[in-house]
Amino acid sequence: MGCVLKRKRIIISGIVQGVGFRPFVYRLAMKKELQGFVINSSQGVEIEVEGNISLLDDFISKVTTHPPPQSIITGYKVADIECKNECEFKILPSLKSNNRTVLISPDISICKDCLKELFDSDDRRFGYPFINCTNCGPRYSIIQDVPYDRLKTTMSKFKMCRNCQQEYDDPMNRRFHAQPNCCSACGPRVWLCDSSGCEVETADPIKSAVKLLREGNILGIKGLGGFHLACDAESEKAVLLLRKRKRRSEKPLAVMMKNINVVEKIAVFGDQEKVILQSPERPIVLLMKKKEYYLAESIAPYNKYIGVMLPYTPLHYLLLKDELKAVIMTSGNVSDEPIVIENAEALQKLGSITDYFLFHNRDINIRIDDSVTRFIKKIPRPIRRSRGYVPFPIFNRKVMPSVLGVGGELKNTICLTKGDMAFLSQHIGDLKNRRTFDFFQESIEYLQQILQIKPSVIAHDMHPDYFSTKWAKEKSSIPLVGVQHHHAHIVSCLADNGRDQEVIGLAMDGTGYGDDGSIWGGEILIADTSGYKRVGHLKYRPMPGGDAAIKEPWRMAIGYMYCMFGENGNDLIRKIENIPLVKKIGFKKIEIIIKMIEKQVNTPMTSSLGRLFDGVAALTGIRTEVSYEGQAAIEMEMIIKKGSVLINRNNIYHFHVNKSNEMIYIDPDEVFHEIIFDIEVGLSVNEISLKFHCGIIFCFTEICKILREQRGLNSVALSGGCFLNRFLLENLHALLTKEGFEVLTHSQVPTNDGGISLGQAVVAAQKI
Ligand code: ZN
Ligand code: ZN
Ligand code: FE
Repeated sequence: MGCVLKRKRIIISGIVQGVGFRPFVYRLAMKKELQGFVINSSQGVEIEVEGNISLLDDFISKVTTHPPPQSIITGYKVADIECKNECEFKILPSLKSNNRTVLISPDISICKDCLKELFDSDDRRFGYPFINCTNCGPRYSIIQDVPYDRLKTTMSKFKMCRNCQQEYDDPMNRRFHAQPNCCSACGPRVWLCDSSGCEVETADPIKSAVKLLREGNILGIKGLGGFHLACDAESEKAVLLLRKRKRRSEKPLAVMMKNINVVEKIAVFGDQEKVILQSPERPIVLLMKKKEYYLAESIAPYNKYIGVMLPYTPLHYLLLKDELKAVIMTSGNVSDEPIVIENAEALQKLGSITDYFLFHNRDINIRIDDSVTRFIKKIPRPIRRSRGYVPFPIFNRKVMPSVLGVGGELKNTICLTKGDMAFLSQHIGDLKNRRTFDFFQESIEYLQQILQIKPSVIAHDMHPDYFSTKWAKEKSSIPLVGVQHHHAHIVSCLADNGRDQEVIGLAMDGTGYGDDGSIWGGEILIADTSGYKRVGHLKYRPMPGGDAAIKEPWRMAIGYMYCMFGENGNDLIRKIENIPLVKKIGFKKIEIIIKMIEKQVNTPMTSSLGRLFDGVAALTGIRTEVSYEGQAAIEMEMIIKKGSVLINRNNIYHFHVNKSNEMIYIDPDEVFHEIIFDIEVGLSVNEISLKFHCGIIFCFTEICKILREQRGLNSVALSGGCFLNRFLLENLHALLTKEGFEVLTHSQVPTNDGGISLGQAVVAAQKI
């Protein structure tokens, strides 16, 4: 050859292992007749390639701009090196190294090619429920250690048959080095059991399972990241039975639907929702129910929305291929425990809920729940970030020291940082539950190991009684940074948007420990990543009974009225005796509550917006007691008539805003007066809820304007669980934008407490 030979070394980082990257490089090199090798390294993929310079440039551009569909390149370096005059291109075995920066792929839903084989009666994997390839299948949930290699996954116990091994070894095959590769001859299998573990004899366990579901039975089905409890979503009877046995009275249940056509029949959605429903991540997406909604009403009672997902494993596709169109797929757990992942554990814990089990023997190494998301203002808003997303990092603008954020108490997640990346764990749950707390510790260990991160600092909430805080404090060998709950919310929102400037932060949620020892939750902060100043909040109001007031919102209503009517118990009863709520609850119970407030017995003070929603929901009779967190506020939002818009500022409830000593106080008294008046004149609860929401939106906007004037800040960050409320988020966003503000909201991590570990980690990283 008369042309110039060159050799280059290319190092590519990102999600480049376990996604078919090396065979892709190999095939490309073969096509261009280039020499060299490709190897998985600690940093990702390393390529050395030699050949004609113009072919090399073309090769590099193809590799970096058109990589395999499931890979994500986060960076690459190219260097000229000396030619070695090889005569072939090779895939070399993985290198061992301690300094790993390679990213681990999340679990990926079944791809089109595998799906085709699954339903092709001529294919050797026809109907095989564990079919996968380099573009799809389990990843994070089966990985026991890194680098990602079959021997370090739960597939190691299955020895590949000759056919599978051939595919695995052939660089031209789409299963080349597909670590979970298997078939019915060599791989995992499914079987059907009754609730006591006796195997049910059947030639086709999946077909039998479908029949049992259609007959109204409840099944425990082992999935990708844990067990699901399943029943026919078209059967009201079956859904009610599941609720009864699971002791889950009203909290919405997720539904898996056969395909997008079935979803179209029961829910309204746009193109973006369609894309994300069919994405490789396959989250549960909250969609608005249609008028024609025909599934069981008890799936999501008093709720305009329904949580829908499409099948994401071959097993799901087989379950839903024929007569079954929609099946409840709710987490297989009891009360607040983590989702069950082992067969024996399922029998013991879920046996009393289920009639049958569909088991399999591919072990789940780490549990991971389904993710939940919804679209607001055309952007996906994660409510729970788990399967399909974890452990992909959130990228930060700056390089951070390695920090562990241990999160809050409810909806706990943890966060580890390394370089410019923040890794959030999957949804862990409520740490008050002992098993969930075990899972919390297990997740910290596991993530540190597979991400190879040794944190130099632990960031935790200021609440002294949170189990995450206590855990951090026991790790006396590592320095600690306490981060205030609502500061963590706002910084989480900043990090979500890749920002670090000072902003006006509206942190609105149910509960968070304040730096004065009270329960905060309606907070206006001036904050950046390094600190915060509380410049405003909802006025403190009593929470009679503490946690009991969260479960029984009517107690909050009494607390608000107590303050509003001048704080005299006897007077109060007389003044409120005609209010329907008071009649409903009865004087006796109310008198006890009033005494509790007067004597300040077990009655903490709170500035929480979540509790204000509860109080109003109770006063209007929408909900006096709740069976799950946030229920009263959700139902307040749900009764707003469809298509309602922000109403003019004269037809809303009025929060008095007063200022003293640099602090802005938002006073809810007038709002309660106005609501009581509206109840007396018979205004509908729909209207009352609308006026309440609009009152909050105008009030917050006015306060932001005052702060802009004072401090010259034009960006507002919205964070906290209250912003799960679509009406509130959409309309506050719109009004602030109209007033010229830049509004920062969440789109990568949840706005609820599932996102605060990120905020904690970023604050602590800044402090070092
Ligand atoms: Zn595939
Ligand atoms: Zn095989
Ligand atoms: Fe919170």
